[in-house]
Amino acid sequence: MSKQLIVALSKGRILEETLPLLADAGVEPVEDLGKSRKLLFDTNLPDVKLVVIRATDVPTYVQLGAADLGIAGKDVLLEHGAAGLYEPLDLEIARCKLMTAGITGAEPASARRRVATKFVNIARRWYAEQGIQAEVIKLYGAMELAPLMNLADEIVDIVDTGNTLRANGMEPRELIAPVTTRLVVNKASMTMKHARIKPLLERLKQAVAARREDLAG
Ligand code: AMP
Repeated sequence: MSKQLIVALSKGRILEETLPLLADAGVEPVEDLGKSRKLLFDTNLPDVKLVVIRATDVPTYVQLGAADLGIAGKDVLLEHGAAGLYEPLDLEIARCKLMTAGITGAEPASARRRVATKFVNIARRWYAEQGIQAEVIKLYGAMELAPLMNLADEIVDIVDTGNTLRANGMEPRELIAPVTTRLVVNKASMTMKHARIKPLLERLKQAVAARREDLAG
């Protein structure tokens, strides 16, 4: 196993909140991630590299050991499953909720419910737990459109302010899970590279705690 630590970061919204936290923990990319088309970046630490990939690919990279560490939303981790991963730290960023939602004021369909979502595993599990018969329809985006177009009765999606739902005549219904961004670690790396991972984990923990205290004001 190489001595390098590869950290897989989720592109987009999570990345913007992750970089300041990594910097507080002493890890900074040597070039501006936003301005580059590159996907693999050196950092100020000679043995730490960053890869910037789609959020849904982060658990796969870490599980299969292509990356030692990863930063991904709990939504993505719940959907992917946690085999081969440790989840030692809640970074407490990109806070949102996984919820069901439907057309405002409409009664939830009583018989077999049609549910559009990109979180098909989470949705199947949740409706089964509730004892609700559901036909889960996989979509890759714009879930809010599905009930309006009569493709589905309900959606399962991420809700932050609720503005996206409201703008489309929909309302949140049930909370499935609160979501924050987590640090995940490949199980073999945690053992084989423990001496290198532990201090980084400690510094990240301190950065999260400091941020929490700042926010508490
Ligand atoms: P909002 O309109 O504030 O409820 O935001 C909802 C939309 O923003 C959702 O459809 C998500 O795609 C996206 N979103 C909000 N928060 C997050 C997050 N923490 N991680 C990923 N996507 C998010």
